[in-house]
Amino acid sequence: MRLMNSPCSATPAVTCDRCDACCCQLEVMLICDRDVPARFVADDRWGGQVMRRLDDGWCAALDRDSMRCTIYERRPDICRDFAMGDSDCVAVRTLYYTPPARQEQP
Ligand code: SF4
Ligand code: SF4
Repeated sequence: MRLMNSPCSATPAVTCDRCDACCCQLEVMLICDRDVPARFVADDRWGGQVMRRLDDGWCAALDRDSMRCTIYERRPDICRDFAMGDSDCVAVRTLYYTPPARQEQP
């Protein structure tokens, strides 16, 4: 994700426990994240580093059964800053959970 996690009361109904970890489909840029295991890191087209994503679109570090981060203690800063219930979280959830036919056309 080029976005950015933490508890939040802004939208009580929003909780990671009832979410498909849709934020873990976003591009995650790595800046000073030296703790991330190399097997989860990919180069982007501009020569930067990002979290590697698999063919299903989710981050390679996401456990597909539990939908939880397997490197939680070593996750990138952007993931640490992505707050549950904040505007970025609500936006990505809206896109993920809204059927395409109901999404606003440009
Ligand atoms: S999109 Fe929001 S509710 Fe879903 S896993 Fe990410 S932070 Fe949690
Ligand atoms: S590092 Fe963890 S929290 Fe960050 S996108 Fe990947 S699975 Fe999600």
